[in-house]
Amino acid sequence: MSILIIGNSAAGVAAAEAVRQMDPLVEVTMVSDEPYSSYSRCVIREVISGKKKT
Ligand SMILES: Cc1cc2nc3c(=O)[nH]c(=O)nc-3n(C[C@H](O)[C@H](O)[C@H](O)COP(=O)(O)OP(=O)(O)OC[C@H]3O[C@@H](n4cnc5c(N)ncnc54)[C@H](O)[C@@H]3O)c2cc1C
Repeated sequence: MSILIIGNSAAGVAAAEAVRQMDPLVEVTMVSDEPYSSYSRCVIREVISGKKKT
């Protein structure tokens, strides 16, 4: 079995974690239309304001 997850944000990461819990060996492919790896949208304002570093 092979799992394809579309989107690498909160829902995608949660789906990958759930799949991994059920089967640690299953092949998981995650695709996104963004050029970035997973990141938290919730901390974007802290990064832009300089409160947090990437
Ligand atoms: C600035 C900001 C601050 C936020 N702060 C908070 C907060 O403090 N607390 C809170 O609870 N929530 C916050 N949120 C909301 C939270 O980030 C979202 O609820 C959460 O990101 C939703 O996750 P999601 O995976 O459902 O969707 P999204 O985050 O929208 O991710 C969907 C992913 O799928 C990809 N995608 C979409 N269509 C396609 C396609 N056709 N092919 C390939 N890839 C595709 C997108 O590029 C994206 O990476 C904030 C959001 C923003 C923008």
